[in-house]
Amino acid sequence: MKVISRTQENTIASVFIAENSDGRRIEFVESIQPPIDISKKWVIIISTLFGCPVDCKFCDAGGDYKGKLSAEEIFFQIDYLVNYRFPSGIPETDKFKIQFARMGEPSLNHAVLDVLEQFPAKYPIHNFVGSLSTIAPHGTDAFFEKLLNIKKEYYDQSFQLQFSLHSTDEEQRNKLVPVKKWSFEKMALFGERFYSEGGKKLTLNFALGKENILDPQSLLNHFNPETFLIKITPVNPTFKARMNNIDSLIVREEKEYAVVDALKNAGYEVILSIGEWEENKIGSNCGQYIKMLDQASQVPEGSYSYKLQDL
Ligand code: SF4
Repeated sequence: MKVISRTQENTIASVFIAENSDGRRIEFVESIQPPIDISKKWVIIISTLFGCPVDCKFCDAGGDYKGKLSAEEIFFQIDYLVNYRFPSGIPETDKFKIQFARMGEPSLNHAVLDVLEQFPAKYPIHNFVGSLSTIAPHGTDAFFEKLLNIKKEYYDQSFQLQFSLHSTDEEQRNKLVPVKKWSFEKMALFGERFYSEGGKKLTLNFALGKENILDPQSLLNHFNPETFLIKITPVNPTFKARMNNIDSLIVREEKEYAVVDALKNAGYEVILSIGEWEENKIGSNCGQYIKMLDQASQVPEGSYSYKLQDL
Protein backbone atom coordinates (compact mmCIF):
# COMPACT_ATOMS: atom_id res chain seq x y z
CA MET A 1 0.00 0.00 0.00
CA LYS A 2 1.35 3.43 -0.86
CA VAL A 3 -0.01 6.95 -0.78
CA ILE A 4 -0.37 8.30 -4.32
CA SER A 5 -1.97 11.70 -3.79
CA ARG A 6 -3.41 14.06 -1.26
CA THR A 7 -5.31 17.31 -1.14
CA GLN A 8 -3.27 20.47 -1.01
CA GLU A 9 -2.18 21.63 2.43
CA ASN A 10 -4.88 23.52 4.28
CA THR A 11 -5.98 24.24 7.81
CA ILE A 12 -9.14 22.12 8.07
CA ALA A 13 -8.71 18.64 6.68
CA SER A 14 -6.50 16.67 4.34
CA VAL A 15 -7.61 13.67 2.28
CA PHE A 16 -4.97 11.10 1.34
CA ILE A 17 -5.42 8.48 -1.36
CA ALA A 18 -3.52 5.21 -1.18
CA GLU A 19 -3.31 2.35 -3.63
CA ASN A 20 -2.37 -1.25 -2.98
CA SER A 21 -0.30 -3.47 -5.24
CA ASP A 22 -3.32 -4.59 -7.31
CA GLY A 23 -4.50 -1.04 -7.96
CA ARG A 24 -7.39 -0.87 -5.49
CA ARG A 25 -7.68 2.51 -3.82
CA ILE A 26 -8.80 3.89 -0.52
CA GLU A 27 -8.79 7.29 1.06
CA PHE A 28 -8.24 8.45 4.62
CA VAL A 29 -8.41 11.79 6.31
CA GLU A 30 -6.70 13.94 8.87
CA SER A 31 -9.15 16.42 10.32
CA ILE A 32 -8.03 19.51 12.15
CA GLN A 33 -10.64 21.38 14.11
CA PRO A 34 -9.62 25.00 14.61
CA PRO A 35 -9.33 26.73 17.00
CA ILE A 36 -8.44 23.46 18.77
CA ASP A 37 -4.74 22.81 18.29
CA ILE A 38 -3.69 19.26 17.39
CA SER A 39 -1.73 19.15 20.63
CA LYS A 40 -5.18 19.19 22.29
CA LYS A 41 -7.21 17.04 19.89
CA TRP A 42 -6.38 15.14 16.73
CA VAL A 43 -8.92 13.21 14.64
CA ILE A 44 -8.28 10.81 11.81
CA ILE A 45 -10.93 9.06 9.71
CA ILE A 46 -10.00 5.79 8.09
CA SER A 47 -11.38 3.32 5.55
CA THR A 48 -12.20 -0.31 6.21
CA LEU A 49 -13.41 -1.53 2.78
CA PHE A 50 -12.40 -0.84 -0.81
CA GLY A 51 -15.65 0.93 -1.69
CA CYS A 52 -18.81 -0.27 0.05
CA PRO A 53 -21.47 -2.83 -0.90
CA VAL A 54 -24.21 -0.92 0.94
CA ASP A 55 -24.45 1.88 -1.63
CA CYS A 56 -26.32 4.50 0.38
CA LYS A 57 -28.03 7.04 -1.85
CA PHE A 58 -25.94 9.98 -0.61
CA CYS A 59 -22.50 8.40 -0.18
CA ASP A 60 -19.77 8.24 -2.78
CA ALA A 61 -18.01 5.34 -1.07
CA GLY A 62 -20.76 2.97 -2.19
CA GLY A 63 -21.42 1.24 -5.46
CA ASP A 64 -17.99 0.03 -6.46
CA TYR A 65 -17.13 -2.56 -3.84
CA LYS A 66 -13.78 -4.28 -4.26
CA GLY A 67 -13.23 -6.12 -0.99
CA LYS A 68 -12.06 -5.77 2.58
CA LEU A 69 -8.91 -4.19 3.90
CA SER A 70 -6.60 -6.40 5.93
CA ALA A 71 -5.63 -5.36 9.47
CA GLU A 72 -2.25 -4.31 8.03
CA GLU A 73 -3.95 -2.08 5.46
CA ILE A 74 -6.08 -0.47 8.17
CA PHE A 75 -2.99 0.06 10.34
CA PHE A 76 -1.18 1.52 7.29
CA GLN A 77 -3.54 4.51 7.36
CA ILE A 78 -3.08 5.07 11.09
CA ASP A 79 0.71 4.66 10.98
CA TYR A 80 1.05 6.89 7.92
CA LEU A 81 -0.85 9.78 9.48
CA VAL A 82 0.82 9.43 12.89
CA ASN A 83 4.28 9.52 11.31
CA TYR A 84 3.25 12.33 8.93
CA ARG A 85 2.07 14.56 11.76
CA PHE A 86 4.28 13.32 14.63
CA PRO A 87 7.78 12.28 13.48
CA SER A 88 8.32 10.68 16.90
CA GLY A 89 5.76 8.05 15.89
CA ILE A 90 3.73 8.83 19.03
CA PRO A 91 0.53 10.87 18.73
CA GLU A 92 1.51 13.81 20.98
CA THR A 93 -1.97 15.09 21.66
CA ASP A 94 -4.30 15.24 24.63
CA LYS A 95 -6.99 13.38 22.71
CA PHE A 96 -6.36 11.07 19.76
CA LYS A 97 -9.55 9.98 18.05
CA ILE A 98 -9.85 7.44 15.26
CA GLN A 99 -13.15 7.26 13.42
CA PHE A 100 -13.81 4.05 11.51
CA ALA A 101 -16.06 5.99 9.20
CA ARG A 102 -14.58 6.83 5.84
CA MET A 103 -15.01 4.25 3.08
CA GLY A 104 -16.89 1.12 3.99
CA GLU A 105 -19.35 -0.19 6.54
CA PRO A 106 -16.91 -1.32 9.27
CA SER A 107 -19.01 -4.18 10.63
CA LEU A 108 -18.59 -6.00 7.31
CA ASN A 109 -14.88 -6.45 8.01
CA HIS A 110 -13.69 -8.46 11.03
CA ALA A 111 -10.15 -7.09 10.51
CA VAL A 112 -11.50 -3.95 12.22
CA LEU A 113 -11.79 -6.03 15.39
CA ASP A 114 -8.23 -7.30 14.96
CA VAL A 115 -7.03 -3.70 14.72
CA LEU A 116 -8.94 -2.71 17.85
CA GLU A 117 -7.45 -5.65 19.72
CA GLN A 118 -3.90 -4.92 18.56
CA PHE A 119 -4.05 -1.13 18.86
CA PRO A 120 -3.43 -0.77 22.64
CA ALA A 121 -0.19 -2.79 22.40
CA LYS A 122 0.97 -0.92 19.31
CA TYR A 123 0.05 2.54 20.61
CA PRO A 124 0.19 2.34 24.42
CA ILE A 125 -1.41 5.73 24.99
CA HIS A 126 -4.08 6.73 27.47
CA ASN A 127 -5.71 9.46 25.46
CA PHE A 128 -7.31 7.37 22.74
CA VAL A 129 -10.95 7.46 21.67
CA GLY A 130 -12.23 4.91 19.17
CA SER A 131 -15.36 5.72 17.22
CA LEU A 132 -17.28 3.38 14.94
CA SER A 133 -20.22 4.45 12.76
CA THR A 134 -22.50 1.76 11.42
CA ILE A 135 -25.78 1.22 9.64
CA ALA A 136 -25.97 -2.13 11.54
CA PRO A 137 -26.37 -4.47 8.56
CA HIS A 138 -28.24 -7.75 8.92
CA GLY A 139 -25.94 -10.67 9.73
CA THR A 140 -23.36 -8.75 11.75
CA ASP A 141 -24.32 -10.00 15.23
CA ALA A 142 -20.98 -11.79 15.72
CA PHE A 143 -19.08 -8.59 14.88
CA PHE A 144 -20.98 -6.53 17.43
CA GLU A 145 -20.79 -9.17 20.16
CA LYS A 146 -17.03 -9.26 19.74
CA LEU A 147 -16.88 -5.46 19.64
CA LEU A 148 -18.67 -5.37 22.97
CA ASN A 149 -16.12 -7.76 24.46
CA ILE A 150 -13.21 -5.73 23.06
CA LYS A 151 -14.71 -2.56 24.51
CA LYS A 152 -14.98 -4.24 27.92
CA GLU A 153 -11.43 -5.57 27.79
CA TYR A 154 -9.51 -2.65 26.28
CA TYR A 155 -11.48 0.56 25.99
CA ASP A 156 -13.75 0.97 28.98
CA GLN A 157 -15.06 4.57 28.77
CA SER A 158 -13.27 5.53 25.58
CA PHE A 159 -15.23 3.94 22.77
CA GLN A 160 -18.06 5.60 20.88
CA LEU A 161 -20.67 3.75 18.84
CA GLN A 162 -22.91 5.47 16.34
CA PHE A 163 -25.91 3.99 14.57
CA SER A 164 -26.57 5.85 11.33
CA LEU A 165 -30.35 5.86 10.80
CA HIS A 166 -31.05 8.83 8.49
CA SER A 167 -34.83 8.35 8.66
CA THR A 168 -37.38 7.09 11.17
CA ASP A 169 -39.63 5.93 8.34
CA GLU A 170 -38.84 2.32 7.46
CA GLU A 171 -39.63 2.61 3.77
CA GLN A 172 -37.56 5.76 3.37
CA ARG A 173 -34.70 4.33 5.42
CA ASN A 174 -34.67 1.28 3.17
CA LYS A 175 -34.43 3.51 0.11
CA LEU A 176 -31.60 5.61 1.51
CA VAL A 177 -29.70 2.63 2.95
CA PRO A 178 -30.67 -0.15 0.54
CA VAL A 179 -29.68 -3.32 2.41
CA LYS A 180 -31.33 -5.45 5.08
CA LYS A 181 -30.52 -3.98 8.50
CA TRP A 182 -31.12 -4.41 12.21
CA SER A 183 -34.51 -3.17 13.37
CA PHE A 184 -34.68 -0.17 15.71
CA GLU A 185 -35.70 -2.60 18.44
CA LYS A 186 -32.57 -4.68 17.95
CA MET A 187 -30.33 -1.61 17.87
CA ALA A 188 -31.93 -0.32 21.07
CA LEU A 189 -31.44 -3.62 22.91
CA PHE A 190 -27.80 -3.87 21.86
CA GLY A 191 -27.27 -0.17 22.64
CA GLU A 192 -28.55 -0.64 26.20
CA ARG A 193 -26.03 -3.48 26.72
CA PHE A 194 -23.21 -1.42 25.19
CA TYR A 195 -24.02 1.59 27.36
CA SER A 196 -24.35 -0.47 30.53
CA GLU A 197 -20.64 -1.27 30.22
CA GLY A 198 -19.84 2.41 30.78
CA GLY A 199 -18.80 5.32 28.60
CA LYS A 200 -20.67 7.88 26.59
CA LYS A 201 -24.21 7.65 25.31
CA LEU A 202 -24.58 6.01 21.94
CA THR A 203 -25.24 8.29 18.98
CA LEU A 204 -28.13 8.06 16.53
CA ASN A 205 -27.05 9.91 13.41
CA PHE A 206 -29.26 11.53 10.82
CA ALA A 207 -27.70 13.07 7.72
CA LEU A 208 -30.80 15.08 7.02
CA GLY A 209 -32.00 15.75 3.52
CA LYS A 210 -34.99 18.05 3.05
CA GLU A 211 -37.29 15.08 2.48
CA ASN A 212 -36.01 12.91 5.34
CA ILE A 213 -38.56 11.93 7.98
CA LEU A 214 -37.45 12.29 11.58
CA ASP A 215 -40.29 11.65 13.99
CA PRO A 216 -39.30 12.05 17.67
CA GLN A 217 -42.15 9.79 18.80
CA SER A 218 -40.90 6.93 16.59
CA LEU A 219 -37.51 7.28 18.24
CA LEU A 220 -39.00 7.43 21.74
CA ASN A 221 -40.83 4.17 21.04
CA HIS A 222 -37.43 2.43 20.93
CA PHE A 223 -34.52 4.59 22.03
CA ASN A 224 -34.18 5.77 25.62
CA PRO A 225 -32.94 9.40 25.82
CA GLU A 226 -30.87 8.33 28.85
CA THR A 227 -28.87 5.99 26.60
CA PHE A 228 -28.96 7.56 23.14
CA LEU A 229 -28.26 11.07 21.90
CA ILE A 230 -29.12 12.42 18.46
CA LYS A 231 -26.61 13.86 16.03
CA ILE A 232 -27.92 15.83 13.07
CA THR A 233 -25.52 16.39 10.20
CA PRO A 234 -25.83 17.97 6.76
CA VAL A 235 -25.99 15.83 3.64
CA ASN A 236 -22.62 16.57 2.14
CA PRO A 237 -22.37 17.74 -1.46
CA THR A 238 -21.38 14.35 -2.77
CA PHE A 239 -21.53 13.16 -6.32
CA LYS A 240 -24.20 10.61 -5.33
CA ALA A 241 -26.36 13.09 -3.38
CA ARG A 242 -26.45 15.32 -6.44
CA MET A 243 -27.28 12.42 -8.76
CA ASN A 244 -30.18 11.44 -6.46
CA ASN A 245 -31.39 15.01 -5.91
CA ILE A 246 -30.88 14.87 -2.15
CA ASP A 247 -30.59 18.40 -0.81
CA SER A 248 -29.40 19.03 2.69
CA LEU A 249 -31.94 20.38 5.16
CA ILE A 250 -29.05 21.63 7.27
CA VAL A 251 -27.38 24.63 5.70
CA ARG A 252 -24.56 26.85 6.79
CA GLU A 253 -26.64 30.01 7.14
CA GLU A 254 -29.34 28.47 9.35
CA LYS A 255 -28.73 27.63 12.99
CA GLU A 256 -32.32 26.95 14.16
CA TYR A 257 -34.35 23.92 13.08
CA ALA A 258 -37.83 22.87 14.20
CA VAL A 259 -36.79 19.22 14.17
CA VAL A 260 -33.99 19.93 16.65
CA ASP A 261 -36.45 21.67 18.99
CA ALA A 262 -38.88 18.76 18.68
CA LEU A 263 -36.17 16.25 19.58
CA LYS A 264 -35.09 18.32 22.57
CA ASN A 265 -38.70 18.61 23.72
CA ALA A 266 -38.91 14.81 23.50
CA GLY A 267 -36.04 14.64 25.99
CA TYR A 268 -33.09 13.93 23.71
CA GLU A 269 -29.68 15.53 23.87
CA VAL A 270 -29.11 16.84 20.33
CA ILE A 271 -25.87 17.69 18.59
CA LEU A 272 -26.29 19.82 15.48
CA SER A 273 -23.04 18.94 13.81
CA ILE A 274 -22.45 21.45 11.08
CA GLY A 275 -18.75 21.45 11.84
CA GLU A 276 -16.39 23.30 9.62
CA TRP A 277 -18.22 24.07 6.42
CA GLU A 278 -15.00 23.97 4.45
CA GLU A 279 -14.57 20.40 5.65
CA ASN A 280 -17.65 19.42 3.65
CA LYS A 281 -16.10 20.86 0.53
CA ILE A 282 -12.80 19.12 1.01
CA GLY A 283 -14.64 15.89 1.48
CA SER A 284 -13.60 14.73 4.89
CA ASN A 285 -16.93 12.99 5.43
CA CYS A 286 -17.52 10.68 2.47
CA GLY A 287 -15.58 8.98 -0.29
CA GLN A 288 -15.60 11.84 -2.75
CA TYR A 289 -12.05 11.90 -3.94
CA ILE A 290 -11.95 8.42 -5.29
CA LYS A 291 -14.77 9.52 -7.56
CA MET A 292 -12.78 12.56 -8.43
CA LEU A 293 -9.85 10.44 -9.55
CA ASP A 294 -11.88 7.80 -11.34
CA GLN A 295 -14.59 9.93 -12.90
CA ALA A 296 -13.16 13.42 -12.96
CA SER A 297 -15.09 14.36 -16.08
CA GLN A 298 -18.43 13.54 -14.41
CA VAL A 299 -17.90 15.44 -11.19
CA PRO A 300 -20.66 18.02 -10.83
CA GLU A 301 -19.50 21.58 -10.96
CA GLY A 302 -19.11 23.23 -7.58
CA SER A 303 -18.77 20.02 -5.55
CA TYR A 304 -15.08 20.29 -4.91
CA SER A 305 -13.01 23.32 -4.23
CA TYR A 306 -9.69 21.71 -3.43
CA LYS A 307 -7.30 20.10 -5.83
CA LEU A 308 -5.39 16.88 -5.48
CA GLN A 309 -1.64 16.76 -5.84
CA ASP A 310 0.38 13.68 -6.73
CA LEU A 311 2.93 12.39 -4.27
S1 SF4 B 1 -22.68 5.68 4.20
FE1 SF4 B 1 -21.42 4.03 5.05
S2 SF4 B 1 -22.64 2.16 4.70
FE2 SF4 B 1 -23.48 3.74 3.36
S3 SF4 B 1 -22.41 3.43 1.38
FE3 SF4 B 1 -21.28 5.00 2.57
S4 SF4 B 1 -19.68 3.87 3.63
FE4 SF4 B 1 -21.23 2.37 2.97
